[in-house]
Amino acid sequence: MSRVLVVDANRRPLMPCTPARARMLLKQSKAAVLRRFPFVIVLKDARPEARATRLRLKIDPGAKTTGLAVVNDAAGEVAWAAEIAHRGEQVHQALLKRAGARCGRRFHHTRYRQARWRNRRRPQGWLPPSLLSRLHNVLTWVARLSRWCPLGAISYELVRFDMQLLHNPQIESLDYQHGTLFGLELRHYLLAKWEHRCAYCHITGVSLEIDHVQPRSKGGSDRVNNLVIACHACNQVKGDQSIETFLADRPQTLARIQAQRMAPLRDAAAVNTTRWAIYERLKALGLPVETGSGGLTKWNRTKLGLPKEHWIDAAMVGRSTPETVSVEKVRPWLIEAKGRQTRQMVNMDDHGFPRGKPKGPSCVRGFKTGDLVRAVVTKGKKIGTYLGRVAIKTDGYFKITGSFGMIEGIHARYCTPLHRNDGYAYLF
Ligand SMILES: [Zn+2]
Repeated sequence: MSRVLVVDANRRPLMPCTPARARMLLKQSKAAVLRRFPFVIVLKDARPEARATRLRLKIDPGAKTTGLAVVNDAAGEVAWAAEIAHRGEQVHQALLKRAGARCGRRFHHTRYRQARWRNRRRPQGWLPPSLLSRLHNVLTWVARLSRWCPLGAISYELVRFDMQLLHNPQIESLDYQHGTLFGLELRHYLLAKWEHRCAYCHITGVSLEIDHVQPRSKGGSDRVNNLVIACHACNQVKGDQSIETFLADRPQTLARIQAQRMAPLRDAAAVNTTRWAIYERLKALGLPVETGSGGLTKWNRTKLGLPKEHWIDAAMVGRSTPETVSVEKVRPWLIEAKGRQTRQMVNMDDHGFPRGKPKGPSCVRGFKTGDLVRAVVTKGKKIGTYLGRVAIKTDGYFKITGSFGMIEGIHARYCTPLHRNDGYAYLF
């Protein structure tokens, strides 16, 4: 059951409760709503004794979407889950547009600009803004959850493939059934390394097998760099020939395979800068951080027969994953990063010239763009109730976007705020 987050009167996090219990507490006026998105209630009395169990926050970071799951390891259930949609691509596009406009202006020769000093240097650990935005999204939500949830540990998917496991399979512990997890991880690693194609004939879209470059009968090892991905036909034809014999009439293919099999998987896939940057920041929070590989996540999920969702993947991260995990009735919060406002003072047309008026005030009649409001219009052509995200205008006639679509010209006097803009939109 997806649970409701609870804090006590001193704002200390308590165990999340069931929605039914939350309804009862609210009805009996023993609790009040602290925030609606995500739903958190605050008890009216302080309960220091009720903080025994600690929950584990599990994170599956992704380029577009990051999954979060708060798991009760002892009970083997997902207490709370969310998926955060990042805006890295939007950040990237906005910066490209700005760079284009600046470049255009320089070529227009509208005024003389002195060549700038070459004194710009990127500090150590610099990340591009699009990646930084993803990092901030994850850290923001870890910080928020630690305020509403009694977190005791973090599990984090750090790498796609566990390279240590691939190179030293003997370190694998017995509870993970030696060989099976290793085999799965190995297979996925090889498929990624050989781009899901047969190494010999480059065919794709057929079922692919693992082939020993130097056959085991000729003393070839099981090491990762002695393995390639091959289609069934090539594998059969090659049989137990050595690769030099098999490819004697194709020297170019031979050279390519020999070079590629010794090279590690291009590190973009195995080691990801953002993931490591987030990991470093998570460690700094002081909670114990467990790391897992993508292969292990998939292995855990397949073992429990669960569908592929970002939040379910998050719940499957790491070796601490319980034997059974109940995900029934859990509805993840769908959170979308929106940014808070724009720093651009005026919109631009395609040629980089100002379009429209300069930016207006960020707050009109107490509302900011991005607030969630309920508008109850009682007269005129737009009679009705509208629930959604507001975009403000200086004249007080707002635009509201919600599940009903979009409507313009709703006056501020009809609007009641439900949730102030916190940089994220919540789909419901
Ligand atoms: Zn082939």
